[in-house]
Amino acid sequence: MRLPALVATCALLCTTLTLYAQQAPTPGVPAPVPATKPPARTASTPAPEAPVAETKEAAPAAKSDAPATPTTGKPGKAPDKPKGPPARDLFGAAKTPAPLAARSIGFYAKGCLAGGKPLPVDGPAWQAMRLSRNRNWGHPELIDLVKRLATEAKQHDGWSGLLVGDLAQPRGGPMTSGHASHQVGLDADIWLTPMPDRRLTEREREDMSATSMLKSYESVDPNIWSEKHAKLIKRAASYPEVERIFVHPAIKKALCEGTPKDADRTWLSKVRPMYGHNYHFHIRIHCPKGSTNCEAQPAVGHEDGCGTELTKWLALVKPKPPVPLPPGPRPPPPPGKPPMSIDELPNDCRSVLSSGPDGIAVPEAAKAAAKPHKTAASKTTSKK
Ligand SMILES: [Zn+2]
Repeated sequence: MRLPALVATCALLCTTLTLYAQQAPTPGVPAPVPATKPPARTASTPAPEAPVAETKEAAPAAKSDAPATPTTGKPGKAPDKPKGPPARDLFGAAKTPAPLAARSIGFYAKGCLAGGKPLPVDGPAWQAMRLSRNRNWGHPELIDLVKRLATEAKQHDGWSGLLVGDLAQPRGGPMTSGHASHQVGLDADIWLTPMPDRRLTEREREDMSATSMLKSYESVDPNIWSEKHAKLIKRAASYPEVERIFVHPAIKKALCEGTPKDADRTWLSKVRPMYGHNYHFHIRIHCPKGSTNCEAQPAVGHEDGCGTELTKWLALVKPKPPVPLPPGPRPPPPPGKPPMSIDELPNDCRSVLSSGPDGIAVPEAAKAAAKPHKTAASKTTSKK
């Protein structure tokens, strides 16, 4: 394992990713679920083995990129936590898509997917990874976009093909591990490790580790990072369907520095610094036409983001010296945020879960618990 990458890979991804990387290859074994807010970062936190999570997208310093906070959230005091079962368990149990018209419902980090389509695990210019997770599903527009990116990167950018990481579960929704977002079938992780010139076995797709692009928290490794990485990200950012791309701040810095001042730099505005994302980059597309309940994120500005914003991000990911613990017994850790309940998702997500012969029944307890919650929420909203 590379020490620089280890140090530079920061914050809450680390514990989650490391644990998950150890457990992920075993289908059916529940992996740890990340908190939605990063815990305290330490320089000694181990690095992930594989690009598995985007929990950092809820990072507090990246308000404009914070997909965990829907723009139409309930005002005022947070509603009481509903007592329904965790949505991640219900959506994680759905092995097939909802047989409905394709529709992304809710927000990237709080929603679900109707009529999901699979990305074929093998294509002329891509291979899907970690097949046991069954996360190669998305809105048809996302599937088309990933295919197009892979095909054009092979044709024009020197890639033999792309290794594709997680998209969404068959019916979207929260996941049992990793990712705060990827819930509505509009997010895709693309490995920055080139695809080998051969078909990988299923076992290899579980076990193969991705390569970090970093030499340090603030710079890419020139022996690993190359022009073709920059071309790939630029190509993805240039598609009008793409709304945002997440990369590690050091990668954003490399892109900023590698783009001449007098060249077209507008595509850089879509490329957003984010924790993690040094093994893979994350593509997010706009709400598709017809997805009327899909909640958009505020548009990115026109600035290239290579100035103050990048400087702030680099400071955020700079490893901090460990803080010595005070003497005496350790206080218990603060309670973690409870997992998202089915009652917190848009109501249509119940139909998405239950539709078709393979539908997942939403337990009665959840429905009962939903009533007071919905009443309280509507009362709060009506006061506004
Ligand atoms: Zn992602």
